[in-house]
Amino acid sequence: MNPRSTHGTLLIAALLGSPLILGRLHAQTAAPQTIFGYKNFDREQSIEEKFLAVPDAGLAGQELKILTAEPHIAASPEDHKTVEYVAEKFRAAGLETEIVPYRVLLNWPKTVKVEAWDEAGKQLMSGPTREHVDGDPFDNDPRVVMPFNGSSGSGDVTSQVVYANYGRLEDFKKLDAMHIDLHGKIVICRYGANFRGVKVYLAEQRGAAGVLIYSDPQDDGYYKGDPWPVGPWRPATGVQRGSVQYLFKYPGDPETPGVASTLDLPDSSRVPPDGNQPHIISIPISYHDAAPILEALKGPGAPQGWQGALPFRYHVGPGGVKVHLVSDQDYQRRIIWDVIGKVKGSDLPDDWVVVGNHRDAWVYGAVDPNSGTAAMLEAVHGVGALLKKGWHPKRTIVFCSWDAEEEGLIGSTEWVEQHMAQLSNAVAYFNVDVAVAGPDFSAAAVPSLKQFVRELTHEVPSPVEGSVYQQWSLEHEQNEEHRASDAPKIDEGEVHMGDLGSGSDFTPFLQHAGVPSTDIGSEGPYGVYHSTFDDYAWYTENADPHFEYLQEMARVLGLEAIRMADTDVLPYDYVAYAQAISRYIESVKKKAGDNGLSSLDFAPAEAAATRLAAAAQHTHDLEISATGDLDDLNHTLRSVETAFLSDAGLPNRPWYKHMIYAPGEYTGYAAVVLPGVSEAVEAKNQPLAAQQLEVLAGVLNHAAQVLELAK
Ligand SMILES: [Zn+2]
Repeated sequence: MNPRSTHGTLLIAALLGSPLILGRLHAQTAAPQTIFGYKNFDREQSIEEKFLAVPDAGLAGQELKILTAEPHIAASPEDHKTVEYVAEKFRAAGLETEIVPYRVLLNWPKTVKVEAWDEAGKQLMSGPTREHVDGDPFDNDPRVVMPFNGSSGSGDVTSQVVYANYGRLEDFKKLDAMHIDLHGKIVICRYGANFRGVKVYLAEQRGAAGVLIYSDPQDDGYYKGDPWPVGPWRPATGVQRGSVQYLFKYPGDPETPGVASTLDLPDSSRVPPDGNQPHIISIPISYHDAAPILEALKGPGAPQGWQGALPFRYHVGPGGVKVHLVSDQDYQRRIIWDVIGKVKGSDLPDDWVVVGNHRDAWVYGAVDPNSGTAAMLEAVHGVGALLKKGWHPKRTIVFCSWDAEEEGLIGSTEWVEQHMAQLSNAVAYFNVDVAVAGPDFSAAAVPSLKQFVRELTHEVPSPVEGSVYQQWSLEHEQNEEHRASDAPKIDEGEVHMGDLGSGSDFTPFLQHAGVPSTDIGSEGPYGVYHSTFDDYAWYTENADPHFEYLQEMARVLGLEAIRMADTDVLPYDYVAYAQAISRYIESVKKKAGDNGLSSLDFAPAEAAATRLAAAAQHTHDLEISATGDLDDLNHTLRSVETAFLSDAGLPNRPWYKHMIYAPGEYTGYAAVVLPGVSEAVEAKNQPLAAQQLEVLAGVLNHAAQVLELAK
């Protein structure tokens, strides 16, 4: 009935209730397994089975409990306790373990204040109100950091207010069209739809003096379902902290773009931090605190789509209310710590398979990120068990516990900047951030690794029944049913995997260093993101009471690493990559036509994409039939992702070197494909679009040339 449930040659037998893989149909016949990348999969299969038996739900739960016992913002003493804990787990598994410090610019809040008055001078609110619900055992800890935005400016502003919906480019354009002047005003906008740094970026460009970002109950509160502690959604006082760094310009330490902030880096090598930081104040608030401001706001009624779920009519302003903001941010160069654990490869020690997850949290971080840390620790546990049985991976596996991700992907970015030379040999970066917020598996990857991820999810049992892949397919089918019939079908006949934009630690690996990357997670209703309430109590009540999904994610993450580390031929699917690129070109060409740029010459880029597709097909045949010494072929295969980099980087953001994927300047998290061309077309900038098309054709021809040399 469901063609996807028997996809490919892989099937899992009798998994219900069993933690062990019992083998696939092929194992019962004499024929050797065919798995893309392996000459003979039988030996590897027995290694994988031994691995899959180790990650333990109960242990993962204990690890999560320990990691989330105290608030542990980056660079704090409590963060350092988690460093010691993770390092100890790495060492116990037999990893060569190192604690790697960096000195980076971070702000901690000294004072944050929000007050509002109506026109008659009557005080409407004074906050921020402490995050609290009756029934949460963790929200009273004095170490819970007051809600603030990483990278916010300091200042003291009193002004009129304007409501800007989600603070998207189109929302600000709407305000422009309504002739609402934002100079000197305080913009209030809601979370959602884009990265919060983009909201502040656009407000700052329009001369706003400050920004308030609140969580509307329509987006992750009572409109969605019962709020915590009854259900998983955001309660009235819950605040989403978060960085407003302009990470679409560059992530990492604001003072050291392109350079690692090692402890011995002289101050003279640092630059002023405003390359990726706003100058204006930005403060995150709850809807409990936002409601009196929004309710008092006068001016035009909220345009179509701008009304949230608070129980009154929204207005755009200005008028009706005056707000006073104080933000006093203590900026210091603080020490952060990555924990790096290596398993040396026996054949190809310089070829790294990198696995990473961040460890720092705004507060307790049960879901974000320590579900990922617990999953990674159980993957490490499994790898350690293999090591004790005498196994060694062919390639080196590097497990990384990143710090200061929340402030702007800082720990990973500094480490990547320090290891650029070695990373030109890294065959993959496997990220996990939010490993478990619920039961729905999801993944994003470069197109060359999408099939790799799909394949290995056949091997991992789902806590529900069957394999992770089977559950993922069911989920996908349900989504397809809700898909508009005229929406384009992508990944026809396959479960959908997204593209990599930003918002987690794969960004420096893929978009700066050109390492093929993936990101995995398991999703569900999650309304407590970046609030105090993302704690162990919420997790066990809502996301994963028996920690079975931690176990699932540990298995998927570990299999990614083991399979990639041992593979004979690197399993990159460049046929899929070339198809995706052709699709992207087609869609940006259409957009160019819509934007009145139909004279742009797409022919050279199209010809280069066609050439890449032909070379990819040639290489695919080689990948399947290759024998003998595979080093040259593997080296060639690995060089393709690097060929997509341009030394000059993207216009106005040279740190971003990948010409196929980048975080959008106006989305921040969501991927923009063919970013140089797309953004120039979006801006109707014909000369820039023409120049970026040349750059694109150049990298595509370079990638094709690399593949044509494959033997
Ligand atoms: Zn995270």
